[in-house]
Amino acid sequence: MKSYTLKRRKDTEEYHLFEGEFANNSPNCSSDQLSICKKMNKIESDGNAFTCFNEDQARKRIAEIGRQVCGVCTSHLYTTY
Ligand SMILES: [Zn+2]
Repeated sequence: MKSYTLKRRKDTEEYHLFEGEFANNSPNCSSDQLSICKKMNKIESDGNAFTCFNEDQARKRIAEIGRQVCGVCTSHLYTTY
């Protein structure tokens, strides 16, 4: 099952979404090296807004955070089903 982690980019203070996989029957997850939009690398992060959320949780939280979240990363949550 896919997992989502939202990280803040140090220089632009914009949030980008990272996709990963949940470990079997565990709340832990992996996350890709690059964000979904490929504009941010993990190492550019200065913190997480959330980690290891499922798709529904990620959508809700991103809607609350609003426009500081990257548009390309956000739209990915609405185009893949
Ligand atoms: Zn992005």
